[in-house]
Amino acid sequence: MASSALKNFVGLRQNSPDNQCRRRLSLSKSISPPTTTTRRRLRIMAAKSSPKITGRNLRVAIVGGGPAGGSAAETLAKGGIETYLIERKMDNCKPCGGAIPLCMVGEFDLPLDIIDRRVTKMKMISPSNVAVDIGQTLKPHEYIGMVRREILDAYLRDRAAAAGATVINGLFLKMDMPKRSDADPDSPYVLHYTGYDAKTGGAGERRTLEVDAVIGADGANSRVAKGISAGDYEYAIAFQERIKIPESKMKYYEDLAEMYVGDDVSPDFYGWVFPKCDHVAVGTGTVTHKSDIKKFQTATRNRAKEKILGGKIIRVEAHPIPEHPRPRRVAGRVALVGDAAGYVTKCSGEGIYFAAKSGRMCAEAIVEGSENGRRMVAEEDLRKYLELWDKTYWPTYKVLDVLQKLFYRSNPAREAFVEMCADEYVQKMTFDSYLYKKVVPGNPLDDLKLAVNTIGSLVRANALRREMEKISV
Ligand SMILES: Cc1cc2nc3c(=O)[nH]c(=O)nc-3n(C[C@H](O)[C@H](O)[C@H](O)COP(=O)(O)OP(=O)(O)OC[C@H]3O[C@@H](n4cnc5c(N)ncnc54)[C@H](O)[C@@H]3O)c2cc1C
Repeated sequence: MASSALKNFVGLRQNSPDNQCRRRLSLSKSISPPTTTTRRRLRIMAAKSSPKITGRNLRVAIVGGGPAGGSAAETLAKGGIETYLIERKMDNCKPCGGAIPLCMVGEFDLPLDIIDRRVTKMKMISPSNVAVDIGQTLKPHEYIGMVRREILDAYLRDRAAAAGATVINGLFLKMDMPKRSDADPDSPYVLHYTGYDAKTGGAGERRTLEVDAVIGADGANSRVAKGISAGDYEYAIAFQERIKIPESKMKYYEDLAEMYVGDDVSPDFYGWVFPKCDHVAVGTGTVTHKSDIKKFQTATRNRAKEKILGGKIIRVEAHPIPEHPRPRRVAGRVALVGDAAGYVTKCSGEGIYFAAKSGRMCAEAIVEGSENGRRMVAEEDLRKYLELWDKTYWPTYKVLDVLQKLFYRSNPAREAFVEMCADEYVQKMTFDSYLYKKVVPGNPLDDLKLAVNTIGSLVRANALRREMEKISV
């Protein structure tokens, strides 16, 4: 079961186009069969021999000003790159729960006043409404941050602008690929967009922008991904209602979030109630039964009924969530990051941190490969970001993928999952991995106990499922 789940993880498969390209690249550089040492030496030489740019610095455009685009733009601008960030809607309020891990606050130096709420209590609620408190192992300074996306995204974009990036309010339409010729092997990408500014008024104006490299940070429906034939990914559809509830009810959610599991709220995901500044966000998602999403949403709302009684829906939103990385994430001097690349974890549906982190990592690879904007970059420079990304986060994605397959498949399995969540060791491991994005080494004895408990829970879940099947026949 677990091994087939691992093989099905498309983005990191051995034969994915990304990996085939990587193999082609290293072969094309090796005249005789390369040893590890010669291959490494050739790589360094290739970077050093990339042409110097004179009279200007490397120009990079980022399409999309969400967390991925904002953090990429800031890193590029600080690294000496001539940076352009194109965002179609400056006050974009991305449909999102807005939960971020504690490590993001420190790593991205986020000011505390953009965090609406600090969640220290989390309730996991089973199909039969058994609620388990899973924040008990948190230390006094630990919390899950809740942000409004319009605030976070604008903050990151403004910081990029302060670092020197040119932020363009524009709708990216398409890009022309470089016209390769011997005379100009590094000819530019030409981006076409509709620009909106004081000069154009509300109407917008067709414009073009020439750059040496492009970062696609334009989310799940990425046009940059289409432009490089990056291939599709399976996706979940997520639905969310923002509900303003009476202040007395809001008290309950002050520092508490809820996750509901069960066939009623989603066949393959979970329903949530997350506290926002002055309301709660109630939502759910599914990959397998997209046309039933409204039914699942109603069920989620019903499960929380007593706690949100008297609430008024102030906003309804829906958006795709990628399920796995795209088959191709780098092509030529174009790289995809964040949702455009497909970096949302299964099981938890988390993508904000991974978007910001991938944007930064990709930008760092460009800064390094171009020697702070003084040299042209090549596909191989951008691939360094992919290599580092896969090496760093592959285990996290895999573990969550397997967990989803094991525990979200039936109501008895979900009951077992919630039961397991009561274990303090499980809570500590889960929270440490979520808050700090590190797979924390555990205590071998506790790991063994956990494995025995997991197997026990699953055996009970299977027995229960068989009993329920008999009853329903
Ligand atoms: C309902 C829902 C709830 C979620 N809850 C959470 C959560 O609680 N925690 C979490 O970590 N993740 C959550 N996610 C996932 C998270 O929202 C994404 O992973 C994250 O937003 C990805 O960031 P990004 O910068 O890659 O893309 P996006 O945030 O999608 O940003 C893309 C940007 O590109 C712009 N853009 C798009 N096309 C163009 C174009 N043609 N021209 C110019 N600009 C363009 C958009 O306006 C947007 O600003 C949730 C997702 C959904 C749908």
